Amino acid sequence: MPEGHTVHRSANQFNRAFRSRGVTVDSPQGRFAQSADLVSGAKLRLATAVGKQLFLNFDNGYTVRIHLGIYGKWRWYQLDEQDELPTVRGEIRARFYGLDGKGKMRLAELRGPTACEVLTQDEVQQVLKRLGSDPLNPDPDDQEYLRFESKVLKSSKSIGLLLMDQSVISGIGNVYRAELLFRAQLNPHQRGKDLLASQVRELWEDSVRLLEVGVKKGVMITRDEHLAKDPGKQHRNFVYKREGKPCRVCGNDISIELAAGRKLYWCTVCQR
Ligand SMILES: [Zn+2]
Repeated sequence: MPEGHTVHRSANQFNRAFRSRGVTVDSPQGRFAQSADLVSGAKLRLATAVGKQLFLNFDNGYTVRIHLGIYGKWRWYQLDEQDELPTVRGEIRARFYGLDGKGKMRLAELRGPTACEVLTQDEVQQVLKRLGSDPLNPDPDDQEYLRFESKVLKSSKSIGLLLMDQSVISGIGNVYRAELLFRAQLNPHQRGKDLLASQVRELWEDSVRLLEVGVKKGVMITRDEHLAKDPGKQHRNFVYKREGKPCRVCGNDISIELAAGRKLYWCTVCQR
């Protein structure tokens, strides 16, 4: 399951390719065809991301909402204008294509998403209301942070579960959950309402930092000493997938347990 940074990278990619330009939208096997007709040929006003959901906002008032889920994937192509589109292989739910600013044909193929649908502006607002604040989106007046803070401080659920709840905070998955809690030296079982506001603030600010690194690098590096250069999968993180291995700070074995069906990695010494 991709975490929020990958969806923001997709939004950036759509903006670079198509922002303020006409986009043809179709559905080779027809499953999304009627919806595609509603937006095909319209200009992409802006692509945005909230957590794991991508919103392609077109200038005719419609928005395509995409949630990749576990199996969804994008594939991008750059073609010359006169080239034929690649042969359709397997199930492609939707294709988005058109000329970019350099006269190249750009094509994005979408396979296997959990959701791909066209929404009106009202329907977009309904979806956004249900989603928690996304640390990657601008928050000039602090309202997004305060919305997150109040949900955490009112909850008797553990902070380990709250960080994975997309209605509390958008875009955090299993890797960032484990790493944020380790970096904050927080016990994942501590209840939201037992945290201090300053601890919630620290979690939020650290999630902004880590997700921004993810957007920039395309990989989830959570150890500050490796921010300049990707050290490879084995060395990027403190606790994620390191069960039974020595903690990088205290040497104690990293623990693993199941929490709401997902694996939770943590250090029982550093995170008391
Ligand atoms: Zn430790």
